Amino acid sequence: MIDLPSNNHAERPAGVAINTLVLHHTAQPLDVSLELLRFGQVSSHYLVDEEGDIYRLVDEDRVAWHAGLSWWGDRRSLNACSIGIEIVNLDGNCHAYPATQQAAVIGLCREILGRHPGILPRNVVAHSDIAPQRKDDPGIRFFWRELAAAGVGLWSDACATMPAGEIAANRLHVLLRRYGYPPPHCYGRKDGRFVYVDDPLDDISEVVAVGLQDIVAAFQRHYRPARVDGIADGETLARLCDVLYQAGESSD
Ligand SMILES: [Zn+2]
Repeated sequence: MIDLPSNNHAERPAGVAINTLVLHHTAQPLDVSLELLRFGQVSSHYLVDEEGDIYRLVDEDRVAWHAGLSWWGDRRSLNACSIGIEIVNLDGNCHAYPATQQAAVIGLCREILGRHPGILPRNVVAHSDIAPQRKDDPGIRFFWRELAAAGVGLWSDACATMPAGEIAANRLHVLLRRYGYPPPHCYGRKDGRFVYVDDPLDDISEVVAVGLQDIVAAFQRHYRPARVDGIADGETLARLCDVLYQAGESSD
């Protein structure tokens, strides 16, 4: 563990428990990532490089600035209740994560979960899970299966149990929402920051609509990476029902 403190952190709000672990790829090489995460506008608690070296940038009892506009379960702005790990990879949708890096991330996640038992398995999330359409990291090459095998987060290898097209959009919406995914929504920019559009009369520019298809694609990016098209085929549905079951939720 290499201590290289970041300038970017804040006090955890009173009464907010740590319940989410967010995983990212940096999209930048190590030196640029360290510069941005220490002296730029963002930060994370940890950075793991391709050799498996782990940099500690922000104490876990402080808020780091990695999630941005985000939504999971009944919480928005996940920075306050989460721990963030940045993993050096220029694009986890294209490039594999080296074995030594995987082992380091798995070990680090296990330590974090040991310190924070309030982080339920379903709350080990991708940045793309909590910011569908806006973010696509840590990407389809990420090692979710290996993480889950080590007791970190959930995974499903379920195959198709029902033909595509048998589920109504409203039920799909309910099941994704029950697991933690945000509902369809709009976001935009206000005073230079991303914000959710809760009131159409708000003065918000560059508004983007995030639809059900974007949220299905976010689920697939994590749990069905062989197909990230936003179309809930039988295997996507089977895996959604399976992870709901593993999380102790009904898929009725
Ligand atoms: Zn990210």
